[in-house]
Amino acid sequence: MNERDTELLRITREFLKGCTCAPVGKPHECSECTEAFVEAAYASEMKHGAKHGPGSGGLDHNAIPFEKD
Ligand SMILES: [Zn+2]
Repeated sequence: MNERDTELLRITREFLKGCTCAPVGKPHECSECTEAFVEAAYASEMKHGAKHGPGSGGLDHNAIPFEKD
């Protein structure tokens, strides 16, 4: 995987660990963690050259494709 994919994977795994305020297996039920996850993923995408931003109408045509392993 490239550096961007690796970083996004690390961010996702961190989120999926969950926290003490969310039920096991449901990390998305903690809004703080979810917000932190979205912000970290977004910052990573922007750092790696994504052109999309909030309110741009979706990621589809601007998202960076993932590399196949
Ligand atoms: Zn949390």
